[in-house]
Amino acid sequence: MITVTKTFFPPLEDYQAQVQRIWDNQWLTNRGALVTELEEKLKKHLTVPNIIVMTNGTLPIQIALKLFGNGGEVITTPFSYVATTSSIVWENCTPVFVDIHPEYLTIDENKIEAAITPNTTAILATHVYGNPCNVEIIEQIANKYQLKVIYDAAHCFGVSYNKQSIFNYGDISTCSFHATKLFHCGEGGAILCKDEALLKTLFNLHNFGHKGTLEFYGVGINAKMSELQAAMGLAVLPHIDFIVAERKKVVDYYNAKLDFTRLKKIKIRENTNWNYSYYPVIFESEEQLLAVQQVLNDNNIIPRRYFYPSLNTLPYLTKVAMPITDSIAPCVLCLPLYVGLSESDLELIVSLINTVITSVAK
Ligand SMILES: *Cc1c(COP(=O)(O)O)cnc(C)c1O
Repeated sequence: MITVTKTFFPPLEDYQAQVQRIWDNQWLTNRGALVTELEEKLKKHLTVPNIIVMTNGTLPIQIALKLFGNGGEVITTPFSYVATTSSIVWENCTPVFVDIHPEYLTIDENKIEAAITPNTTAILATHVYGNPCNVEIIEQIANKYQLKVIYDAAHCFGVSYNKQSIFNYGDISTCSFHATKLFHCGEGGAILCKDEALLKTLFNLHNFGHKGTLEFYGVGINAKMSELQAAMGLAVLPHIDFIVAERKKVVDYYNAKLDFTRLKKIKIRENTNWNYSYYPVIFESEEQLLAVQQVLNDNNIIPRRYFYPSLNTLPYLTKVAMPITDSIAPCVLCLPLYVGLSESDLELIVSLINTVITSVAK
């Protein structure tokens, strides 16, 4: 079976060598040697000033909203993974959706101002598929209305924009190191920010609010990454250049062979060094997508409708129409993309898609 993604497993000896260190140290969590080493290596690899690794990629979003949401309205995108919206609701804030740009599929920065009210506290936007939002305009708007900017950068491992890490934009960025992501710790994630005082606050929030063992700065949560997770991260990280290069080959193949007279790919923002994290294609219609999906499934190929249904249709929210998202989300399919996807698999995927789209008119 060919699935949309496949977790990268480092050589078992690499993982065992890291786990051996945990046994030698007799230390499993509370920011041991492996977690702190992983943070140092990630700072270097990503060229970011600060990072706090956490136990998954959702808690950093919740922590950022705990700090900046203040129970108010949070402007956000309907085209993302559910964690973006559910975190807003979980933190007792109100999601206010702003439609997406039809080509970049990121939040449409030109529609943000119209959604701002006196109750707006923050903007939580997703660099969807690792494609940067219009960070400059968003920053201008945030400054004008004194709003905080949080980026769900779960897909952005290694992405740079204007020659610096995309994680350096906004007040806070979050990332996911889930098993399905480009770089992973099995489960894991991180919060990133440039400001040192803010970093300290975020650190305290992720560690129960502890001030030493007996005192507390305030309320906090437990979002600490364990040594076992860091062991996986340290075993995967040395292979990251290989992972990205192999994924690039798959992306190049799709770009060269898919029939783009009937399909569209997303537009990656100018001046972006992208990470090949997903391969979404946009069909002319949902019927066409469903026909392609059926034929692929019949051939044991399982792509994924990612992100569908869009988040403005979540059952626990009052429905709002988002014309662009509502028309595009049903037509987006993410194609298989992972290390080890063979050329013959790719040939089959591409020929099936190209055949079906010519036979199914829009
Ligand atoms: C994966 C993902 C998350 C959640 O990360 P976890 O590590 O699974 O908690 C959040 N937002 C987006 C856009 C994601 O793709």
